[in-house]
Amino acid sequence: MTVLPETTAGHEASAVADLRAVLGKAAQVVGADRVTHPDDETHGAPVTTLGPNVGLYRSRAVFGVVRPQTAEEVRRVVELFAIEETSARLHAFSTGGNWGLGSREPAQDGAVVLDLSGLDLIRDIDVAQGWAVVEPGVTQARLARLLEGSERMLNVTVSSAHTSVVGNALDRGVGLRHQRVEDLTGLEVVLPSGELIRVGWWPEADRQTPVYAHGLGPSLVQLFVQSNLGVVTAATVRLLPRPEALRVVRLNFTPDKLEAATAEVRRWVSQGLARGVVKIYNEAAARAYDSEPGQYLVHVCLDGTREAVDALSGIVTVEAVKSGLFSAVSDTDASDPGAANHDVAVRVERAYAGDPDPTDALFEAKMGRPARRLDEEGGFLFFLPLVPFTGAALARADELIEQVRAETGMRCGATLNALSADVVDCVVTMKFARDGEEAERAHRALDRLYELFTAEGFIPYRLDIEHTEWADRLAAGTGARSFARRLKDAVDPHHVIAPGRYA
Ligand SMILES: Cc1cc2nc3c(=O)[nH]c(=O)nc-3n(C[C@H](O)[C@H](O)[C@H](O)COP(=O)(O)OP(=O)(O)OC[C@H]3O[C@@H](n4cnc5c(N)ncnc54)[C@H](O)[C@@H]3O)c2cc1C
Repeated sequence: MTVLPETTAGHEASAVADLRAVLGKAAQVVGADRVTHPDDETHGAPVTTLGPNVGLYRSRAVFGVVRPQTAEEVRRVVELFAIEETSARLHAFSTGGNWGLGSREPAQDGAVVLDLSGLDLIRDIDVAQGWAVVEPGVTQARLARLLEGSERMLNVTVSSAHTSVVGNALDRGVGLRHQRVEDLTGLEVVLPSGELIRVGWWPEADRQTPVYAHGLGPSLVQLFVQSNLGVVTAATVRLLPRPEALRVVRLNFTPDKLEAATAEVRRWVSQGLARGVVKIYNEAAARAYDSEPGQYLVHVCLDGTREAVDALSGIVTVEAVKSGLFSAVSDTDASDPGAANHDVAVRVERAYAGDPDPTDALFEAKMGRPARRLDEEGGFLFFLPLVPFTGAALARADELIEQVRAETGMRCGATLNALSADVVDCVVTMKFARDGEEAERAHRALDRLYELFTAEGFIPYRLDIEHTEWADRLAAGTGARSFARRLKDAVDPHHVIAPGRYA
């Protein structure tokens, strides 16, 4: 049963009629079968829900779902909400795989949801120049498949292969090569007025301009990332040069070596020995990679020409052995069919090389079920703080995770993604059974993670739908949040686009 928030339960007859009218007009734009109307039996108020989500966050009351298939349909629907008399606001998602942070859910009650998965064109691609123009419904699997055997590759994440390239980048997701937002070079955006604009770099029909996101003057692409200033209908994304050779060195270390071993790995990153995102998994997170039980696991990617990879792998292996910090070091797991974790090692190398594995084998090993059943059956939460890349800071983050376990009984996975030699994206995960007290315990643990990590200065770079107030709590008092609000008021005076997780 949906528990109605006051704002929707007390909905007046005129507001209900206005909403019906605007949804009726939206149906004329996108087709009646592409609009889900509210369930009229819910206390007479026109609300429905999007169904279960894997985070077990409270289902938001939504006023309907509209599923356009073209950018022009999105533009006309947004325009309708701008000119019609309705208090409903729009919340957009791409493929809705934002698992652990809220899945498809809006941050607040009372939105009309724009499901953009039907905008699924790869509009244009230039492999030689290294760009593609993709719509929100284009998945990493589809774009990567187009590039197979070419001189370019996609920076893929380790989420399901069937998640959106655009949706992930708009939430500042992290790929295996770098943070996805670095791949966004241009955006096509429907503004709250219904005007469609393009910012950043876009291909031109009759001349070739270099791919460069910033243009002249203020750089506008980032305005629409983690933002509620517009609805994105397409993006130009960078395709990276494909390395001639690639190898992932696997290392293990025992928990007592955490501080020293991560400091050593940081040294390699700072000296340019590693390529892409070095990943360090704690014991719980390492399990899905067939790693030694009770040990941390490190993946260091090396790529370039074959000679460069041989040389780098020799250097890293010698440094690792010389340090005396690692209990196992191997650079042959993927090339040696006899290696115990050969299959996993091959999948890991392929992912670093831009193949997101359409079978989702590793993803399913982690989650215990296919992506399409996750929201109905799974229990999973994410907490995503940034931590300075020093051995001491990472050891402290580990202590905080242990403190949360002691307080709540919740054992967390942690994956440390080195975004640079200075910053680590510390992905804290909690898997739990949906029924019983485990879900409640996981949410208590999530609250504690926010409190403990932020008190230490380890602030999250992505928020879930229940912790949106942290965007204000964490902002330094420098006027930035109030400037962002003034921008929102100027661009969206009638608040056509719903409050999101960040503003
Ligand atoms: C096992 C596992 C592994 C994961 N690994 C990773 C990983 O390696 N890296 C990572 O970053 N995440 C990871 N995730 C988290 C998540 O699954 C991915 O970030 C995923 O790509 C998000 O789903 P999506 O692409 O469908 O985006 P969506 O859910 O469609 O979009 C995300 C958010 O962006 C905004 N948005 C989306 N589209 C638009 C639009 N067109 N206009 C305006 N705003 C929009 C909305 O706020 C939306 O909530 C993982 C999750 C799991 C369970």
